[in-house]
Amino acid sequence: MIQTANLGFPRIGARRELKKATEGYWKGDLTAEELLEEGRKLRARHWQLQKEAGIQVIPSNDFSFYDQVLDAAAMVGAVPDGYDWSGGPVSLDSYFAMARGTRGRAGGDLQALEMTKWFDTNYHYMVPEFTRDQAFALSSTKPIDEFREAKELGIHTRPVLIGPVSFLLLGKSKEEAFDPLTLLSGLIPVYVEVLKQLAAEGADWVQIDEPCLALDLGDAAHDAFRSAYAELARADTGVRLMLTSYFAELGDNQGMALGLPVDGLHLDLVRAPNQLGEVLVQAQRDLVLSLGVIDGRNVWRSDLPAILERIEPVVAERGSDNLVVATSCSLLHVPVDLELETELDPELKSWLAFATQKIDEVAILGRALNEGRAAVEEQLAASADAAAARRTSPKIHDTAVKERVDAVTPAMARRAHGFAERRQAQRELLELPAFPTTTIGSFPQTQEVRRARADHAKGVMDDAAYRDFLRHETEAAVQRQERMGLDVLVHGEFERNDMVQYFGEQLSGYAFTRHGWVQSFGSRYVRPPILYGDVARPRPMTVDWSSYAQSLTDKPMKGMLTGPVTLLQWSFVRDDQPREQTCRQIALALRDEVSDLERAGIRIIQIDEPAFREGLPLRRADWQDYLEWAVDCFRLSSSVVADETQIHTHMCYSEFNDIIDSIADMDADVISIETARSKMELLEAFTTYRYPNEIGPGVYDIHAPRCPSVEEMADLLARARERLAPDQIWVNPDCGLKTRSWEEVDPALTNMVKAAEQLRAGG
Ligand code: GLN
Ligand code: ZN
Repeated sequence: MIQTANLGFPRIGARRELKKATEGYWKGDLTAEELLEEGRKLRARHWQLQKEAGIQVIPSNDFSFYDQVLDAAAMVGAVPDGYDWSGGPVSLDSYFAMARGTRGRAGGDLQALEMTKWFDTNYHYMVPEFTRDQAFALSSTKPIDEFREAKELGIHTRPVLIGPVSFLLLGKSKEEAFDPLTLLSGLIPVYVEVLKQLAAEGADWVQIDEPCLALDLGDAAHDAFRSAYAELARADTGVRLMLTSYFAELGDNQGMALGLPVDGLHLDLVRAPNQLGEVLVQAQRDLVLSLGVIDGRNVWRSDLPAILERIEPVVAERGSDNLVVATSCSLLHVPVDLELETELDPELKSWLAFATQKIDEVAILGRALNEGRAAVEEQLAASADAAAARRTSPKIHDTAVKERVDAVTPAMARRAHGFAERRQAQRELLELPAFPTTTIGSFPQTQEVRRARADHAKGVMDDAAYRDFLRHETEAAVQRQERMGLDVLVHGEFERNDMVQYFGEQLSGYAFTRHGWVQSFGSRYVRPPILYGDVARPRPMTVDWSSYAQSLTDKPMKGMLTGPVTLLQWSFVRDDQPREQTCRQIALALRDEVSDLERAGIRIIQIDEPAFREGLPLRRADWQDYLEWAVDCFRLSSSVVADETQIHTHMCYSEFNDIIDSIADMDADVISIETARSKMELLEAFTTYRYPNEIGPGVYDIHAPRCPSVEEMADLLARARERLAPDQIWVNPDCGLKTRSWEEVDPALTNMVKAAEQLRAGG
């Protein structure tokens, strides 16, 4: 019998129940017991749903009140000092203190642990911290409790643990620098203990996630894998381990992984279908192979007969007893249930599958393989029909767009002249002072702004009234900026709900869901748009707002766009053509917008690319290819303008060192970056490289509610001045100001302008 497996179910609840419960608890509206009860309800519902769908291998311990890596840290007692913990079970409050810090709350002054991106997803995990003398001890029985909880409901589960090597690799050393892998031997006994307790409860298999197998690993990490799993095997814990990789091919970790003494190996065959062939050749006959064929990272419905075509020969060759069909990775990364989308175009809807539907797909594959295709004939036919319809639907395929992409020439991605000549032309036209001041785009999204948007969406406020309101906000923002003495103004982005959604709603090829939430981190969820078809721009998107704002001032008004890579990166992207091609389509749509803005008299246009670095593939060998097309797409969108039109770009916090050549290659006339918090350290990449164009290193940390003083910002500018040529430097905040209040922004920007004036005066 081929088993069917799911690697993880989204924990947030179809109606975001987890968010309401955790936030309610934080506010004091819910007791701890009520919060725990909500967790139990969600788990029970999700287990039941998978059982009823016919999934045989159902995960437990995939639930979390905040983050699975934080859960693992609590499990092994990796709780840094100060979080009110001295051994024993980690309390809910210590747990949430690590997750969120306690600053600003009664008596608390703790910082949260650092948070960072989970591989190449838009999920963020809490980074465990280790000291050199870090001790580990079993400090949470969560995996065992949840296994038992399911068992009591009559559901036998396969607990999920983050593997010991990935756990250490995902963490960081605290205080002094050392390699966390040196802590491995102290960590393994805790894993042995957990596995033994799980075995005692009746668990037979454990899914041990080692997502770091998707990364370039050195010899030290390979050795760590070998010794960790040898140790676990030696301990004879009584459970079998399904070593689980996902997000990329095993690549040069494959030989090592196949040599580990584990009972099963999971492969992500959506991201890396080609690795199956070689694994089949090299894997021991008795190794259970879990074939991750249903995409856990995207929202598309599978072409099940096509998947069967690939799996059936494997079954014929290897027999069905050592095979599992599964999701490619945890379904954490997709929304819960497509059925809730009652307003989605039915045709588009028929091409989609969210977590609940993906569970069904796995089950159908299992039946087809075990009972023969005839047993699920209807479901297979429906799946194939949907795939066929999607391949040819005019909703997706726009010949004009495809032809335009095909006709792109290299010259279209090049400005007419080099930076030196453009700079001259821009100086003559713009007549800006030295160290020009500007902001990144958005101004405070106040209560009133959000209320007006909500009222407009509900139909309580009509279009005309909403527009008047936004015009008024824009006008007030322009006046404020003039009073502050800023040199390059922005309109404030009051009309935008979100920097991706605002554009997605105006471009064809994009769809939006009502309930399609996925966890970004903790109780923060996002609803990524679905980029399903060829992208075109039916009409200008921002020109009215930018020209209106420009009409209110003699200072240059900066047009504000979200860049092609970011529009791609923060969406669910169609899987029927290379991402690169979709990105080019977006770039061409933006190119038209850039051109229209220029024609409307906008002389400075900023194209934001905060997700540029995020798009880097997990493996270095794939970087160059990505960087080439990503840079090319940015240039395709921006290079349409005349020399004297100034192109800006903006990136948020990023490591730039290893991609600085590509950043320079984007050839924006000005780039603004986040540098305030790192005290300009992040500028180092630009300095050593001698970045040729102009740069606005952020001097105002917009993430903190405090107002930076003139001296502080002048000091940061002095540091920038040491690293850059004087005529390269712009003065601006780290990022947009939408999350701040005017009470904070007004004095901060006034100070920023003063700091620039000091610098001009040579102070
Ligand atoms: N222009 C956007 C803003 O100011 C940029 C946001 C971002 O970088 N994430 O809000
Ligand atoms: Zn930013």
